Parts: sequence; structure tokens; C-alpha cells
Amino acid sequence: MKSYNHLYINGRWTQPVKGQTFPAIDPSDETVIAEVGAATAEDVDAAVKAAREAFDHGPWPRMSGKERAGYLRRIAGGIRARLNDLAELEVRDNGKPLPEAVWDIEDTAGCFDFYADLAERSDAQPERAVELSMEGFVSKAVKEPVGVVAAITPWNFPMLMASWKVAPAIAAGCTVVLKPSEVTSLTALEMAAICEEAEIPPGVVNILPGIGIEAGAPLTEHPLVDKIAFTGSVPTGSKLMKVAAQDIKNVSLELGGKSPLIIFDDCDLEDAVEWLMFGIFWNKGEVCSATSRVLVQENLYPKLMERLVEEARKLKIGNGMQDGVLLGPLVNAAQYEKVTGAIEAGKRDGATLVYGGERPAGLEKGYYLEPAIFVDVPEDCDLWKEEVFGPVVAIRRFATEEEAVRVANDSEYGLAGAVMSKDLERCERVARDLQAGIIWINCSQPTFVEAPWGGYKKSGIGRELGEWGYENYFETKQITSYVSDKPWGWFIK
Ligand code: NAD
Repeated sequence: MKSYNHLYINGRWTQPVKGQTFPAIDPSDETVIAEVGAATAEDVDAAVKAAREAFDHGPWPRMSGKERAGYLRRIAGGIRARLNDLAELEVRDNGKPLPEAVWDIEDTAGCFDFYADLAERSDAQPERAVELSMEGFVSKAVKEPVGVVAAITPWNFPMLMASWKVAPAIAAGCTVVLKPSEVTSLTALEMAAICEEAEIPPGVVNILPGIGIEAGAPLTEHPLVDKIAFTGSVPTGSKLMKVAAQDIKNVSLELGGKSPLIIFDDCDLEDAVEWLMFGIFWNKGEVCSATSRVLVQENLYPKLMERLVEEARKLKIGNGMQDGVLLGPLVNAAQYEKVTGAIEAGKRDGATLVYGGERPAGLEKGYYLEPAIFVDVPEDCDLWKEEVFGPVVAIRRFATEEEAVRVANDSEYGLAGAVMSKDLERCERVARDLQAGIIWINCSQPTFVEAPWGGYKKSGIGRELGEWGYENYFETKQITSYVSDKPWGWFIK
């Protein structure tokens, strides 16, 4: 494994000032695969100052969108050129099955291409005339990049989550300091190398792995940062909002969820089982929008449970590099403890475990866990209410649409929701009734760079992806001119 003990600051590779590192661990066998350079406040300060200088005096925000698009497309090309290596690195660092990692990396490249297109298109509409109710004035609204962006990302889709922030931010003309999760930092450093190859001007993209409290906290507290773009857990998001409040920093938050999937009894059984499984076992259930609470209408329930358990038994668990594996190891020891703890708590709280939740036979090393299927989960227990972030599904039965919607909405979260029925009018109605930012009809999880992404309630503030994710990185300025020939005549008559 090559060396990952350096940081990318101001277009150069540097050692962390304090010389600290932390290990990157392969979750399939618990071995250390690299020592990663750990940024601290001193490195963060250098990176933020470089980003500030590049924003205030460098060419980046002053270029046309078309010019910036050229760089973004080169980054996309650089990612595609090493697609297989990056996907394998993601498997080794995160544990996800290879086909999922390939998909992530393709989407990462696609995200840079998408925002290249938007940057180019925005050259055509640099300003918008504003109609005023008073004669003698003309006004226009112009968009300007928000400035220096502190981007902080989680470990479940390491490179993809970084692209959701870096791509729109630099397309808009901002400069960025990215701190990836300390659990999975390797592909972020590869992104830095690709930016270097694409000849992004110094200071525009700075990438610093580090521990949350040692690198993330000083980054968000730094007075020269204009915007904090965060994806992660609700408790960290809440802390960041308090920090942002000190200096009134612009903040967008993509946080956790406990998203419902409502399955009506007119569904095709096989489709229902497929999407139920995809909704919670894809990416090991380590998905913010995972449909981890499932509501099944009574008539379909017995058959659906039979088929679900049958299919769950067949699910191949193992090292993500092996052919046919659909469930890799959980990301690390802490996550393993958290997920197994949630399973134990679910049992204690009266939920019935009908399948899984144990270490699979023959996989003694690595953070492997069978998918866990719980039924009759009490509405007031943590397993029903709190995010587990693992392959653990909580299922309940329901009788009427009204009941399903009430139970689905009874949550502090509001990231996503899904509904399955052959009655499309009903699907549309339920989609409108669910209190969440992303609703899937007759599916669960497919995500598109063109469509808005983000949560209601405690699941976040703001939207990523699509044109909404681009808007995140702009300020709007009004420019108003007095154009009348007559003097204003208020003080001077
Ligand atoms: P986390 O909150 O523990 O960490 C996220 C990031 O914040 C990491 O880079 C971490 O180092 C950093 N961090 C931690 N403490 C910090 C501090 N005090 N100041 C600044 N930065 C700090 O979350 P995680 O465990 O890495 O990720 C899992 C969570 O992310 C889940 O809750 C999941 O639902 C959520 N998530 C949400 C989305 C979304 O789009 N809504 C997408 C992916 C993950």
C-alpha cells in the first residue's frame, strides 16, 4: 500500500505539523493498511489561509464558468481513468462490496461532470433583472460564490460524499478545505492527487484527513471560513450549528435518518422483497437514507416475511472483493459494537428477532454481521426510533393508509421515505403526506445527481445535488441604480 501520511495544502503535499498519524484499517480482516497523516489546528490554519488567499486574490472565482468547467471535467476524467483502483481502495478502507464501490466511483466522476455543465450554463445567466415598484431605479440580482468552504464528510460513501460538496463548491467559484472522515480517508487523498493532476490552482482544493475534534473542530471554528458544509450524524451537526452561530457562518447539514418504507398489500411480492432488502442491506445498511423502518400491510405480511427470511438466508456475506458478496463487513470496531448493541437493546425492548444479527459462521476475523430482521418492534423503543446505521431492519404491520402515514411520520427524522403499491394515486398521496425530503415510489434508495437531496426535521438543513446543491455555494447580491434625471430631493430641496 502506498503512503498516505501527507496532507494536500495550497497545491503541495506536506507532512502534518505535529507529525501525528492514525491507522486506516481494513474491516474485512482488521489489518492496518496505511498510516494516515493527522491534521491538527496548525495544518487547518495553513489550509484555510491558502483557501482564503486563493478566493480573495487568485484566479478561481474570477474565471468564467466555462473555464472552471474544464478543470472539473479533467477531475472527472482523472477519476474515471483510475476507476478500478479507486473502487478497490474504497472496498479495502470501507468494506463495501466491489460492485457498489465501482458504482460510487462512477457517480463521483458523474458529479464533477454534472457541476461542470452547471458552471458552464451559469455563464449564460450572470445576472437577473429585478422589477421594482418605484420608478427612477433599476435593479438586478447577481450570484457570487460564497467564499471559503469547510467541507466535512462521513465514512459511508467516502469519495462520493466528498464530491457532493467539492464539485458544486468549486464549480461555483468557491475554494474548499475538505476534512474527510478519519474512518475512511484514503480516497479523499486520491481526490487531492487527481486535482493536482488536473492543475487546479493552488489553494482552491485543500484536503486534510484528521480526527473530528482535532481537525474538524478547528476548521469549523476558523474565522476565515465563510461556509460549513457538513454530512454526518445529528449530534455532530448540532455541535457545528452552535459553532457556526458564533460567527453567523452559512451552514448546510446533511444528517441521519430513520426512514420508513410503507408496503401496501397490492404490491408484487417479489418487488416488495427486493426493494425492502435493497433499502436496508445495500452498503451494509450504512446509508443515511436507508429505509430501516418497514410498515407492511396485514394481508401481505405473512408471505412477505417468509420470502424475506428466505432471501436473507441466501445473502452472501464476506470480503467485498469476493465475487457474489452482497454484504461486506461493517466499517470498524466501533460501528460493530454500536450495531450489535442496538440489536441487543431491541431484544430487551420486546422486539422479536426473526433472523440474523449474529457473527456469520466461519468469519471470525473482520466486522462481519448477518443481516438482522426484527418484527413487532414497539413504536416507543430505540430500535424503531433511532438510527442504527447497519443491516438491521425493524418491521411492523399496519391496517390502514392513515395508520401507516401516522406511524411513518412519528419520527424526529425526515430524510427519506418510500411507498410501494400498484395504486399510483395512493402512492402520490402518501408521497405528499410523508414528512421527508426524499420520497421513493415503488423503489427505495436510487439517487440521482440531478435531483435535490436533503432532510426535513432533524435530518438537516439545505439541499445537496442538482441545481439546489449548486445554489448552496452562492450568495445573492442586489445591485440597484438610481437612473432618474430628477434630483432625489429629500434633504436638499
Ligand atoms: P460523524 O458525525 O461522527 O462524523 C462526520 C464527520 O464529522 C467526520 O469527518 C468527523 O471526523 C467529523 N467530526 C466529528 N466531530 C466533529 C467536530 N466536533 N467538529 C467538526 N467535525 C467533526 O458521522 P459519521 O459516523 O462519520 O457518519 C455517519 C452519519 O452520517 C450517520 O448519522 C448518517 O446518517 C450520516 N449521513 C448523512 C448523509 C446525508 O446525506 N444526509 C449521508 C451520509 C451519512
